[in-house]
Amino acid sequence: MTSRLHQFLTRSPYQQYVYGYPHKTAYRRFDSPRPLEQVWAPERKEARFLYVHIPFCEMRCGFCNLFTTVNPVETVVEKFLTQLEVEAAQTAEVVGPATFTRAAIGGGTPTYLDAKQLERVVTLMRQTMGMGRIPLSVELSPSTVTADKLEVLSQATRLSLGVQSFVEAEVAAVKRPQANGDVNRTLDLIRARSKAHLNIDLIYGMEGQTEASFIGSLETALRWRPEELYLYPLYVRPLTFLGKRAASWDDHRVNLYRAGRDWLTSHGYVQRSMRVFQRRDVAELQLPEYHAEDDGMIGLGVGARSYTKAVHYAHDWAVEPRAVRSIIDDYLARPASSFRSAHSGFELSVEEQQRRWVVLSLFGDGTNDAAFTKRFGVGLFAALPWLSQLLDENLATWTDGTFRLTPRGLEVSDALGPWLFSEEVETRMRAWEAK
Ligand code: SF4
Repeated sequence: MTSRLHQFLTRSPYQQYVYGYPHKTAYRRFDSPRPLEQVWAPERKEARFLYVHIPFCEMRCGFCNLFTTVNPVETVVEKFLTQLEVEAAQTAEVVGPATFTRAAIGGGTPTYLDAKQLERVVTLMRQTMGMGRIPLSVELSPSTVTADKLEVLSQATRLSLGVQSFVEAEVAAVKRPQANGDVNRTLDLIRARSKAHLNIDLIYGMEGQTEASFIGSLETALRWRPEELYLYPLYVRPLTFLGKRAASWDDHRVNLYRAGRDWLTSHGYVQRSMRVFQRRDVAELQLPEYHAEDDGMIGLGVGARSYTKAVHYAHDWAVEPRAVRSIIDDYLARPASSFRSAHSGFELSVEEQQRRWVVLSLFGDGTNDAAFTKRFGVGLFAALPWLSQLLDENLATWTDGTFRLTPRGLEVSDALGPWLFSEEVETRMRAWEAK
């Protein structure tokens, strides 16, 4: 085993959830603003993703590392929506017409907004950005869902509810107190009022959680027959593991992961990645074309990112509450013209684009060599030969021209993700963390 891969594998299976590349902490101010017209000019117009980020929540969960602020004064919410409309109008004008084939509203908690405010968001997506009747995914939290909001979100094809656990003491321990009665009512309401696929997020590795209580939460979740379940390892160490060797918490999480995976796969679910489990009897949706590895995403809102092949950009980013509020204030004060350019981000060299392609495909359905070769004019192992170490270590297989993680590889996805980072990205991320 080569030393770098070995180092990552021996540190911990839980180093970082890598779902995009490069991470926002690797972004820096550009020397001069990049006009969006130029940034988007080389991109395909036929398949784009539209993403809107709502940076508000009703409480701060103890495990959250997202860009969000808690219970802002109402005027901030209204000003944010007005500025979001300005950003959308400016962006649409300079980027020009394109066809969106996927959309999502995330956060934060989109349903923190009331129905009228949500309507403004959906309207700007439709009228200003030109979103048609395409698949729309929306994130929800249990105590913020109401019938009138679900009505506004009637286009949604996927609703994702952050439940975390059906054991009240467990969610209280991660500072997300909620009553099961509310959660159950919300799930009933979603099933009664929406035809969207339902995803339920659950967490393992919490204070007091046992294999039996975790399986109990899975059993409860299945009462609503969710089309999809996301199982997230907890990343904030519970008090019970403080002072103990780090490996004991890792062992606890690995045991729960295996128990949850085995239980779900024997109860009608298929594992699609380390976190994603899909109900086996759900027919694949016939979705319009969109390839996350290659097609662009326009993100709107102070916490959103945007991707083209060679340039990723975003507003500033933070997690610490005071810094988040200050970034939101800056966003609210920006002149309309400033939304016509990208100010901070990351320029991806061809090698960084290749790494990103692998990050986005390997942790899901696998990396197809023909698609990679078509895009880059060079085969996967010719471009990134060190990837073959995963074959040597039985962490991946090569079948029918596709490079896929084995069950062991899936289990250590959060160690392999950071291993895929380039030295430059790693260095920038470390510098950001040291600030
Ligand atoms: S609801 Fe989501 S975004 Fe909001 S604090 Fe909790 S984890 Fe973070």
